[in-house]
Amino acid sequence: MLGNFCYANPTRLYFGEGSLKYLPEELAQYGENVLLVYGGGSIKKNGIYDQVLAALKASGKRVVEDAGVMPNPTVQKLYEGCEKVRQNHIDLILAVGGGSVCDYAKAVSVSAYCSEDPWEKYYLRMEDVDNEIVPVGCVLTMVGTGSEMNGGAVITNPDSKLKIGHVFGDDVFPKFSILDPVFTYTLPRHQMVAGFFDIMSHILEQYFSGTDDNTSDYIAEGLLRSLIHSSRIAAEDPQNYEARSNIMWIATWALNTLIAKGKSTDWMVHMIGQSIGAYTDATHGMTLSAVSMAYYRHILPYGLPKFYRYAVQVWGVDPQAKSEEQVAAEGLERMEAYMRQLGLVMDITALGVTEEMLDGIADGTFIMDGGYKVLDRDEVVAILKESM
Ligand code: NAP
Ligand code: FE
Repeated sequence: MLGNFCYANPTRLYFGEGSLKYLPEELAQYGENVLLVYGGGSIKKNGIYDQVLAALKASGKRVVEDAGVMPNPTVQKLYEGCEKVRQNHIDLILAVGGGSVCDYAKAVSVSAYCSEDPWEKYYLRMEDVDNEIVPVGCVLTMVGTGSEMNGGAVITNPDSKLKIGHVFGDDVFPKFSILDPVFTYTLPRHQMVAGFFDIMSHILEQYFSGTDDNTSDYIAEGLLRSLIHSSRIAAEDPQNYEARSNIMWIATWALNTLIAKGKSTDWMVHMIGQSIGAYTDATHGMTLSAVSMAYYRHILPYGLPKFYRYAVQVWGVDPQAKSEEQVAAEGLERMEAYMRQLGLVMDITALGVTEEMLDGIADGTFIMDGGYKVLDRDEVVAILKESM
């Protein structure tokens, strides 16, 4: 059964090659002062910066730059962005980059006019936003997080070693997002495949929860099959537009709230992965791949029917003459083989995790209660050890 819900998605999305041409009509809806947010410089190398700046200038905007958003944006950087918004009376924050840049832009948008420390209010205490929110628009250059069409914004505090995501409401979703698959062609292979696994993980976090028969899980299976198919093609042929465009669209639907509607969700792989990220600053998707197999093998006995269904519907396992357990385990074996073939990081040691960090990582892992097994701290440590 589907639980009751309200569904609305306020982000206007422009998809496809050449879709940056729609930027001026979006810019026309906002005031003069634009904060142009980007990362470490990839957009200058691949020419996206020049195209965006030309559109901003042609639209008569006063552009204030906020460069250097790092993967896993920090709270210190957040404070800097807030200062720029206030000093320059920013009317629109334009994020040009991957999930880190989009997340950061959203975090700044809610934090700039927060009357107290936004890290404490919005991250440690997870309060609702009750101050002015500065509108955000995105030009996406890396595929994976779904940040282009959701209210999520993950921020890391390197001092307290906490990486926390707040899923904000509709008001914080980007007002518009521009998705040109060609903009992702310059991604290094490591980042490209990390993004593929981030997408898979988002879908699985929502799929492996609950026992009801609901449409969201059927949509999730379709997205997973399309992702597996297209990512295999893209891994061999990164400039295959058909594959890259399909993956870009799957990423958006994987985490724009649709497939969580009317059902419970898990999110423990992300909770463990984020805590690893706080300790190592590792690439987000790789923190997820490195713990996923240990985690899913650990919870399989508690959610056996769903793991059976996953094996048959997503990985095409033939259930003939096999026990339910065998079918479910074979599904995970196929998943692991696929992950190894993509070249994902499969152990946390390769991310820089040491034995000494395990207790801290376990302490920094937020325990969610929607999965097939509510983990205790010892289980988190056991999963981490299994992932080494
Ligand atoms: P990212 O951190 O935004 O980018 C990773 C790297 O890719 C950066 O070094 C960036 O370089 C480079 N890059 C991006 N686009 C490129 C391009 N077209 N060509 C060449 N290089 C490019 O990666 P991400 O995986 O999209 O974002 C990760 C963050 O999002 C994490 O903090 C994660 O926790 C968070 N996250 C958010 C959500 C959500 O729902 N909002 C969900 C999952 C994860 P430059 O810096 O030089 O541009
Ligand atoms: Fe993610």
